[in-house]
Amino acid sequence: MKPQFDLASLVRKNILSLKPYSSARDEFSGSEGIFLDANENPFGTYNRYPDPRQKALKKALSELKDMPQEQIFIGNGSDEVIDLIFRVFGNPGTDSVIICPPTYGMYEVSANINDIRVIPIPLRDDFQLDIDAILERIRKDESVKLVFVCSPNNPTGNTLRDIDAILDNFNGIVVIDEAYIDFCPESSHLADLRQYPNLIVMQTFSKAWALAGARVGIAYAQPEIIALLNKTKPPYNVSKLNQEAALKALSKKKTTQYRIATILEQKKILAEKLPTLSFVKKVYPSDANFLLVEMENADAVYTHLIEKKVITRNRSSQVKNCIRITVGSPKENRILMNELKKMEQ
Ligand code: PMP
Repeated sequence: MKPQFDLASLVRKNILSLKPYSSARDEFSGSEGIFLDANENPFGTYNRYPDPRQKALKKALSELKDMPQEQIFIGNGSDEVIDLIFRVFGNPGTDSVIICPPTYGMYEVSANINDIRVIPIPLRDDFQLDIDAILERIRKDESVKLVFVCSPNNPTGNTLRDIDAILDNFNGIVVIDEAYIDFCPESSHLADLRQYPNLIVMQTFSKAWALAGARVGIAYAQPEIIALLNKTKPPYNVSKLNQEAALKALSKKKTTQYRIATILEQKKILAEKLPTLSFVKKVYPSDANFLLVEMENADAVYTHLIEKKVITRNRSSQVKNCIRITVGSPKENRILMNELKKMEQ
């Protein structure tokens, strides 16, 4: 049986006892008055510090996701959220994290930056989790504080099954990175937050919301975990411009829905057309906005495309002979297909 979850025992002692910085906007959060408290410049448009708690954005997200605001954290992209999770829970030099490659590279880099040992438990050949190996490691190795999974997974594109088996048997922190979830909303684990106090679900405005340039990432978790992330983050981690951009995107849900539908339609067309090329061996099924494509010679295809100014991602070092192709606009995808067809001649 799963032992009792004890959040305090998972948190680094220095973070537990940390007295966070109290910013001017924390101490006075009203919007009316003459502001002479934060050494800001009285002139200009972006002269004021942003809301350190991103209240307006959290309110809008709370309504969209039916999630209490205390369970929402906003980061400077989800890359900041990944780093904060390691800083809150990982004791440098002693704790470890399980990751399941091939997967998003920042889990490992961020762990390395924070001196957290990385235990790779590769996905099986079908790109699903090796649950038995993960559970065995968790059982035997007390240094494992965190498990990171990505679903839909980058770069394979598939949704991971059986994450519940980890949640049911592990009392450390389980992070599910749902960066691509809006392309496949039925697979979200947000509802599991009611059941699992050790779960953190990450999402982002960078993909379906088309705001990679703005840097707005999200974490959903129990209020106690959100409070720890809040006290560890830099005071003004999400700029006013970023918060405004995210709010604007949320107010234009129809545009986002239309874009998602277009991307999904284009993905379907690409997934049908790519296998007609003689050098394409396999197009992996994808629940995201990209396709992992196995080629006869991925390096040659990748280089040819670069020469034609079509930039894809060569993922051969992660999955043999594979290129990851992001689904572009209809025109971009047509150009991609034309350039690939030329390789057959
Ligand atoms: N998670 C995954 C799985 C990703 O693929 C990426 C970016 N490619 C990120 C997180 C980073 O997202 P953000 O732009 O919100 O930092």
